[in-house]
Amino acid sequence: MSIAFDEAGRPFIIVREQDKKERLKGIEAVKANIAAAKAVSRTLRSSLGPKGMDKMLQNQDGEVTVTNDGATILQQMDLQHQIAKLMVELSKAQDDEIGDGTTGVVVLCGALLERAERLIDQGIHPSRVSEGYETACDLSTELLARISDEITLNDTKLTEMKKVAMTTLNSKIVNRFKDKLADICVSAVTSVADFERKDVNLDLIKVEGKVGGKLEDTNLVNGILAIDKDFSHPQMPRRVEDAKICILTCPFEPPKPKTKHKLEIDSVEKYKDMQKAEMEYFQDMVKKVKDSGANLVICQWGFDDEANHLLYKAGLPAVRWVGGVEIELIALATGGRIIPRFSEISPEKLGRAGVVKEVHFGTTRDRMIVLEDCAKSKAVTIFVRGGNQMILEEAKRSIHDALCIVRNLVVDNRIVYGGGAAEIACSNYVAEKMNEIPGVEQHAVGAFSEALDSVVMALAENSGLNPIESLGEIKARQANEKNAHLGIDCMGLGESDMKKQSVFESLQSKQKQLQHATQMCRMILKIDDVIQPSRYE
Ligand code: ADP
Repeated sequence: MSIAFDEAGRPFIIVREQDKKERLKGIEAVKANIAAAKAVSRTLRSSLGPKGMDKMLQNQDGEVTVTNDGATILQQMDLQHQIAKLMVELSKAQDDEIGDGTTGVVVLCGALLERAERLIDQGIHPSRVSEGYETACDLSTELLARISDEITLNDTKLTEMKKVAMTTLNSKIVNRFKDKLADICVSAVTSVADFERKDVNLDLIKVEGKVGGKLEDTNLVNGILAIDKDFSHPQMPRRVEDAKICILTCPFEPPKPKTKHKLEIDSVEKYKDMQKAEMEYFQDMVKKVKDSGANLVICQWGFDDEANHLLYKAGLPAVRWVGGVEIELIALATGGRIIPRFSEISPEKLGRAGVVKEVHFGTTRDRMIVLEDCAKSKAVTIFVRGGNQMILEEAKRSIHDALCIVRNLVVDNRIVYGGGAAEIACSNYVAEKMNEIPGVEQHAVGAFSEALDSVVMALAENSGLNPIESLGEIKARQANEKNAHLGIDCMGLGESDMKKQSVFESLQSKQKQLQHATQMCRMILKIDDVIQPSRYE
């Protein structure tokens, strides 16, 4: 592109090389896009469900990720095609809004597009297909709301909430410990949740990990797991109750002589004088802290053995070399002020916490300092352990999904049943309603029902069952027994009733899955012109 001027001095733009661009138009463009989206969806299909397969991805630096999470798989795949990138956005949208169901949404979108392609081949215009899908999606989300059940949140054991979290964790690599992880996630969310306002601030739940120990050692810490540090003196108490914390960003040391000063020490007396002066500095610093009423010092800098000893003598436990980010976090949570100079220490600037203690994890000798019952925040920390970085990261991702799902339940406590039960119910309902819809859209509505079936088939196939047989059986049983809880018995427990198997999913998650997949499918169907730079340029 370049700017030129005509004889009157008016600028105009010359667009060159337009013909060098690659261009796909009309049905050809729609079909090429569908093919790309289907390819992405096919990759994820085998990962769906509790028996789904995991994917191993290696990035350019050679780092390996093993995961089952749809959003993570897609984000780490190096996708070039523009439509494939849209599929990544799709799973990301589901991840951002709901936090789970990221594989299901892509598989459903792929299935919808596959059916759409057939209809387009039959001569139906893409926009008619798109309208039909919209109608079917509305019908399905309405039905889901009708067949949903409410779970009780005031139940002290919160067992049902835990079951929903467990359904999410079922398909993860860490599912061996789903029981404990679900417990941890439910406790974490309920301790920061505001049930009256139906609000959960997930920022208050910190998920931290440290390689080492076992996954079983993962635990919930009531407070901020602030710092990967320990108390500065081995004989200081390991626990401070009703802590009044002095948060310092100045070092415990006497002022250093600048280069232009000259210090001449040529006799023992002078040396002793200097030592005394230094000692006084230290004593004065410790006294200032002590006088403010503080019973704990958290310092961004270090202090030498002399200061450490004095602090210990003065009964002031201290933590040194705490990072700037942590210092800020501690100040926020405890309601304290960061103090940059000893002269500015005053009682009202101290932060407060119920208990500050040093904790040890599992059988390893790792120590950390925890601040519990902080004055300004009820933050909790989930401290994840794992044998290696890979498993630790996957555990963190799985915990994130479970936390999101439990949070969604606090916001909306309605659930539907998993294992494909909700999809089959929608599919049956949409197929039933199909005949009432006049015109060409009828076919699209039918195709929507088939696409839902296809997701259930993927679930059955991944569990080693015969997909067509299992789907047929469950569909027939749902219709005959009028029971929307029947789904695919993925775990082979001999029970198809998902209510009895406790396979719960949040209504919101399922509704959003259908809506996101339909929206993305409609968007792809609407594109009929693709202009991109030529590969040979
Ligand atoms: P997503 O990333 O979309 O959540 P998953 O791989 O986690 O995908 O699989 C979720 C699907 O697995 C849901 O449809 C859920 O109902 C189903 N599911 C989970 N646990 C079970 C189970 N124990 N029995 C049957 N289906 C299950």
